[in-house]
Amino acid sequence: MDLAFSCDLACSGCTHYSNYGNKGHVSFDIGEKWLRAWAGRLTPGTFSMLGGEPMFNPDLLSYLRLAYELWPESERVLISNGLNHARHPKLFETLATTHTRLDVSFHSYKDIQYLDQFNQSLVEIERQRQRLGFMLGYRPSEFTFYRTYQGEGASMRPYAQNDPLTSWTVCLGKQCMTLHRGCLWKCPPLAFLELAAARFGLDKVKEWQPYLAYQPLAPSASDAELDAFLRREEESCCAMCPTRYEYQEHGLVSRLAKRMA
Ligand code: SF4
Ligand code: SF4
Repeated sequence: MDLAFSCDLACSGCTHYSNYGNKGHVSFDIGEKWLRAWAGRLTPGTFSMLGGEPMFNPDLLSYLRLAYELWPESERVLISNGLNHARHPKLFETLATTHTRLDVSFHSYKDIQYLDQFNQSLVEIERQRQRLGFMLGYRPSEFTFYRTYQGEGASMRPYAQNDPLTSWTVCLGKQCMTLHRGCLWKCPPLAFLELAAARFGLDKVKEWQPYLAYQPLAPSASDAELDAFLRREEESCCAMCPTRYEYQEHGLVSRLAKRMA
């Protein structure tokens, strides 16, 4: 579940489109209803709270506590770029008491201003881990970034190679079922496509129509519909994505750097 749609980094090819300056977050009074609606029917093996940058959600700690209450046996992970932990003074204690793992993603070996802030943040995070003993993971994504569309911004287009099985087979995000607007979506690139579409007028672009028409699963779905949703592998919408995994330069454009300039 994306707790916030905005991010202070701008990684080219972000599968949540947060590099395009998306705004906003899911307030806890709304997100709690979404989560409780599904908690009676689903127990995820892993529940990830991410974004965008989840630290930009002022209700973050409430989400950590709720996820622990709903799914104490599940692996629960907060995935963050690690730069904004100071926004939540009780973050580290809450990670420890809710047994939530913090996974810190890493995005550039080249952006000096980013590296400078990242290193300072990581030192503080590790210091707190040694003090409190919460679980800490590390996600280097400089070389494993999976790009799901071609072009940039208004000129972005789906791959549309008409081979959804191969696209799904090579997909790095096929485990990433997403809770968004109260519904279950197959993956982040489909769930958040509407945000990029709104920003760049993609709803008027013919090539995007089949993917913008994707229908997520609503909480009113029957058990049979939920079961079919969970079992579904490739489907026509997967034609949106590439049929070959290609190394892509991560292309981080640091908003941090712009802000500091
Ligand atoms: S850190 Fe980069 S990949 Fe992660 S949400 Fe922000 S822009 Fe996307
Ligand atoms: S649409 Fe299919 S292939 Fe593309 S990211 Fe989602 S699950 Fe993967």
